[in-house]
Amino acid sequence: MKELNAFKAFLNSPRKIVITTHANPDADALGSSLGLYHFLKGRGHSVEVITPTDYPQFLHWMEGNEQVIIYDNSKADRIGTLIKNADLICCLDFNGMKRIKSLGPLVDASEAKKLLVDHHLNPEEFADFSLWDNQAAATAELVYDLILLLDGKDEITLGIAEALYAGIMTDTGSFKHNSTSAKIHRTVAELMDIGVDINKVSRLIYDTNSLNRLRFIGYALMEKLTVDAEKRVAYFVINAEEHERFHLKSGDTEGLVNYALSIQGIFVAAIIMERGGEVKMSFRSVGNHAVNDFASEYFNGGGHKNAAGGISDVPLDETVEKFKSLIPKFQ
Ligand code: 5GP
Ligand code: MN
Repeated sequence: MKELNAFKAFLNSPRKIVITTHANPDADALGSSLGLYHFLKGRGHSVEVITPTDYPQFLHWMEGNEQVIIYDNSKADRIGTLIKNADLICCLDFNGMKRIKSLGPLVDASEAKKLLVDHHLNPEEFADFSLWDNQAAATAELVYDLILLLDGKDEITLGIAEALYAGIMTDTGSFKHNSTSAKIHRTVAELMDIGVDINKVSRLIYDTNSLNRLRFIGYALMEKLTVDAEKRVAYFVINAEEHERFHLKSGDTEGLVNYALSIQGIFVAAIIMERGGEVKMSFRSVGNHAVNDFASEYFNGGGHKNAAGGISDVPLDETVEKFKSLIPKFQ
C-alpha cells in the first residue's frame, strides 16, 4: 500500500470521513463501502457513505444500507458540505472522477485527503493514500487486506464480513472468472470463519427476481439478441420503451450480457441500452479480447480486460450503427 504508515498516523485521531463509490453501485461497490464504513466507525471516526446514484433492491439487506446517502439534487447542498468539510474521502471501486457523476467535481475540489481502494486499470492520480491492485478480483478483497494492514482483523463483524463477501462473490462471478485466485479463496475462508452464511448471501443477491425481470430476460433472449456468428460477436439492444414496458429497475439488466457471451463460439458480447436519458453499454469477452481498451477508445468507458462498460454520446440507433461498424476491431 502506498503511504501505509502515513495513513495509519492520519487515522490516529478521530476524522470526518466520506466514503464514495461508482455510479450504479454493484455488490462490490456497495459491499466495499459498507464494510469499510463499519470498520472506520468502529474505530471512532465519523463516517458517511455517499453514492452518486441509487442501487438495486437486492443490495438493500446489507448492514448500514439505511445510512447510505444517495445523491439527488435535493441533497446537493448537504452532500456538498459533507464532502467539502471531510478530512478524508475514500474512493472505492472506481478509477476516475467521471465514474462518480455529480460527486466528481465536489470530490476533486475538496481539500480532504483521498484514499483510493480499487482494482481497475489506469487510475487517475488523485490519491494521497492508495491500495490499488488490478490483479485483485474485487475491491472488497482489497478492503479486507486494508483492514488487516490496519491490524483490524478482530474488528471484522459479521455485517462487515457479509458485505465484503457479497462483493467478492459477485465480482468473481461466483468464483469462476480468471481473477479468482487461491488468495481470494483464503480470504473467503476467513470470512466464513467469522460467520458468513454463503448460501444466504447468494440467495439474497441472485434469487430475488421479480416476475417482470424474468419475463424481460425471456423477451430479450427471444427478440433482442443479435448474433454475428461469423464475427463471433453477440449483442442485445434495449430501448427506453422496453425499459418502461417491463418496469425495469436498477440491476434488472445485470447479467443479461452473460447469456450472449455463453453462446458457443462467441467471444465478445455487449448490451446497448437506453437508461435514464443516456445510452449505457456493457461489454464482456473471453480470452485476449480486451473490451476495456475498446470501451475507452470508442465509448468513453473502461473497466477490466474481460468486463467493461461505457456511455455513448449519440442516440441509441446511431450507437448501434457505430458498434456494428466497430465489430471488425475485435478480430
Ligand atoms: P458493467 O457492464 O457490469 O456495468 O461493468 C463492467 C465493468 O466495467 C465494471 O468493472 C465497471 O467498473 C466498468 N464500467 C462500467 N461502465 C463503465 C463506464 O461507463 N466507464 C468506465 N470507465 N468503466 C465502466
Ligand atoms: Mn469491483
